[in-house]
Amino acid sequence: MKYTEIMVRYGELSTKGKNRNSFIGRLHGNVTKVLKDYPELTIQPHRDRLHIQLNGLDAKPIMEKLKNIFGIQTFSLSIRVSKDFEEVKKTAIDMMHEAYEPGMTFKVGTKRSDHDYLLDTNQINLQLGDAICVEFPEIKVDLRKPDIKISVEVRHDGIYLSYLTVKGAGGLPVGTAGKGMLMLSGGIDSPVAGYFALKRGVEIEMVHFFSPPYTSEQALNKAKELTSKLTSFGGSIKFIEVPFAEIQETIKANVPEGYLMTIQRRFMLRLTDMIREQRGGLAIFNGEAVGQVASQTLESMAAINEVTTTPILRPVATMDKTDIIRVAENIDTFNLSIMPFEDCCTVFAPPSPKTKPNMEKTIKFESSLDIDGLIQRSLDNIKITTVEPGDTFMDSKQDEISSLL
Ligand code: ATP
Ligand code: MG
Repeated sequence: MKYTEIMVRYGELSTKGKNRNSFIGRLHGNVTKVLKDYPELTIQPHRDRLHIQLNGLDAKPIMEKLKNIFGIQTFSLSIRVSKDFEEVKKTAIDMMHEAYEPGMTFKVGTKRSDHDYLLDTNQINLQLGDAICVEFPEIKVDLRKPDIKISVEVRHDGIYLSYLTVKGAGGLPVGTAGKGMLMLSGGIDSPVAGYFALKRGVEIEMVHFFSPPYTSEQALNKAKELTSKLTSFGGSIKFIEVPFAEIQETIKANVPEGYLMTIQRRFMLRLTDMIREQRGGLAIFNGEAVGQVASQTLESMAAINEVTTTPILRPVATMDKTDIIRVAENIDTFNLSIMPFEDCCTVFAPPSPKTKPNMEKTIKFESSLDIDGLIQRSLDNIKITTVEPGDTFMDSKQDEISSLL
């Protein structure tokens, strides 16, 4: 069949009242960005749906990309024909030939926005239904739960037919819920946390700590590559590299081993919070999960969290690791995440960090450090780039390795 259009139905929109325009505007923008490699498409947002005219392009790769975009409930491949009813009949029958297998039931459902058309919705349903029954004598109609539903829409510019409906990603269009900073490591959890933030419409900016010469260029590229994976859900993402070596060296030289981790994390959070403030973010997201490792006990979270009152959202906080991994596989970040590059935290990880750090001791040990100076020097050297959909940062050899893992 020669499909002419993809018809996109909006997600949670009905609950959003007067935010409708911003929802539709954002979704339109995000779809346009994610499909930027297909300039031939015409993308038109309407009140109830978004229409993507294929203008001769193959729908398959475009549908694959659409499946990832948040704010889409479902979408259907449609064919536009003229208002000649014989053509409508022929197309409906062709569609049934494509979809029908013995034993299946069907129904025709018509909507009309062109109220001047010579047939009304009932007449269209009946006439098409009859034509299909003549072509497939053994077929049965089921108005409540048909196996195949031929949807017909009479619009001013033509009549649209479809039967294939694909489930979209749900959620809200990225950018409709404000901006947050995601603390992105190279691990499994934080990209998944980022995915969930995006799903609720939050525009995220990546804050990544790295520690050259202790960490490699590859570790940095891995974090950028993970960012690139997440761009498929809503378009480009800012990537903020924050140098962390001097802070880690200083902490290591001056703080008892059991408190290295807690105090490093407090610095990370302070820095992230300052960057957030400079960039107009409203919250911080991270990939912490309760009880997963030493830094993620409730005591530890409390000791780290003490440096700020900014909301810290932890989308994977209560998930089991196996469930987090399943999401990571689905969003295609898992194979990258498990590539073995030294992360700034592994390099300076103490052999036995305190799982129940004491708040007073934490603050006391920290007070011997020049907190403001360390933070300022790091902030002075941050680097911000933009990661676009399709950008790659790892060479192909590494890709091969990761696909073998
Ligand atoms: P992940 O899989 O996300 O690395 P993890 O289980 O390895 O998580 P930790 O290494 O303890 O856990 O990190 C906890 C959280 O702290 C991470 O999910 C991330 O949000 C943040 N974080 C850790 N390292 C970095 C880093 N180098 N840059 C930015 N954020 C980081
Ligand atoms: Mg980690």
